Amino acid sequence: MRRVLLFLLAGVVVLAAAWLLAGLPGRITATFGNTTVEAGTPVVALGLLLLFVAFYVLFRLLGALLRLPRRTLYWRGARHRRLGDVAVTRALLALAAGEKADARREAHRARRMLGETPQTLLLAAEAGRLAGRDDEAEAAFRRLVERPDAAFLGYRGLLRQAMARDDWTEAAVLARQAEAVQPGAAWLRHERTRLAIRAGNWAEALALADTDAPRAALAAAAAEAEPEPARALKLARQAWKQDPGLAPAALVYATKMRTEGRENRARAVIRHSWTLAPHPDLAAFALAPVSDKLARVQAAQRLTEANPDHVESRLLLARTALDARLTGEARRQAEATRDAGLNQRRLWLLLAEIEEAERGDTEAGRLAQRDALRHAASADADPEWRCTVCHVPAAAWRPACASCGSPGGLRWGPGATASYPVPAVVG
Ligand SMILES: [Zn+2]
Repeated sequence: MRRVLLFLLAGVVVLAAAWLLAGLPGRITATFGNTTVEAGTPVVALGLLLLFVAFYVLFRLLGALLRLPRRTLYWRGARHRRLGDVAVTRALLALAAGEKADARREAHRARRMLGETPQTLLLAAEAGRLAGRDDEAEAAFRRLVERPDAAFLGYRGLLRQAMARDDWTEAAVLARQAEAVQPGAAWLRHERTRLAIRAGNWAEALALADTDAPRAALAAAAAEAEPEPARALKLARQAWKQDPGLAPAALVYATKMRTEGRENRARAVIRHSWTLAPHPDLAAFALAPVSDKLARVQAAQRLTEANPDHVESRLLLARTALDARLTGEARRQAEATRDAGLNQRRLWLLLAEIEEAERGDTEAGRLAQRDALRHAASADADPEWRCTVCHVPAAAWRPACASCGSPGGLRWGPGATASYPVPAVVG
């Protein structure tokens, strides 16, 4: 309805204009040299109007022609952006689905359509990584490193690649470069801790580790590695305070004390740790300066007086008593652990030794030894260091598991049950 009204209005305006034009009075004469042209005013006015319209159309056409290259570029750019966005989405989907070939193809298309943006470079790198094309991924990560706005992404990718191929030197360099462009990134802190642990740089690992980290293990290892005595002692104290039940922490602290001539303090540290968690290495440390066999018995009694009924205490008392030829006491202590349910190989071997020392090369002695050794063959394994993460045993304590790399993963506890070869039976 409105359109009809507008159309009618326009018609009325055109008619009115034509009527006004036609009603213009007079004539217009123009002379060009010898030629004289004469026309009515309405005709000349109409001619001028048409001329104006013609010029207007001509100028618009010229303008459009001049703008054509720029417009073509714009249209092509818009089309590339549209296709590039589609390729980015497809590449992401392929990466998520683990489709190696699709991911690489779409990432390549996205890069062609959108150019080298952080997104397309990262996509290309990740697609290369997924497809096992490490060279391709590395090239894309290196291009990212060159961009100030995305250098961290590049370093992160290169760092992960270096760690995957166990190139710890390169990884450490890359971690420092990444830290420089993005200081304090949480992910980087975690990776730098891992790197420091891998490289055995315990002091750095301790400095970087968060509160959940096994700080006692890291501090003990750092103290062990620290050449400067005062700093080493401080680290050792820190380790022991963190976990007085961790034998290696107590040992490193006590060793530093002993080196400084503070023997009483060293023994107090060991005694305290023995009360919390007895470990044969603590006894070895405490008894090391004592050579007289009876004095060793007394030293063992002093060490174990807070928990004399503990299996480790009884086994230590039995061993020192046996060494001092106090076989009755040795037997009493050893049999007490057996009666309490201990069935470890070391106990049966100790009992066999006690039989030998007490009854010597007699028929009864040989029988008793044979019986103890038979038990030893099928007994539970002796306690050992074992990783709580991957459960691989370790011959000695280490601040990080040699098998899976978990820091503080090793714990002293029951050994894996295994059968042992029976030692040669006397007689
Ligand atoms: Zn492990």
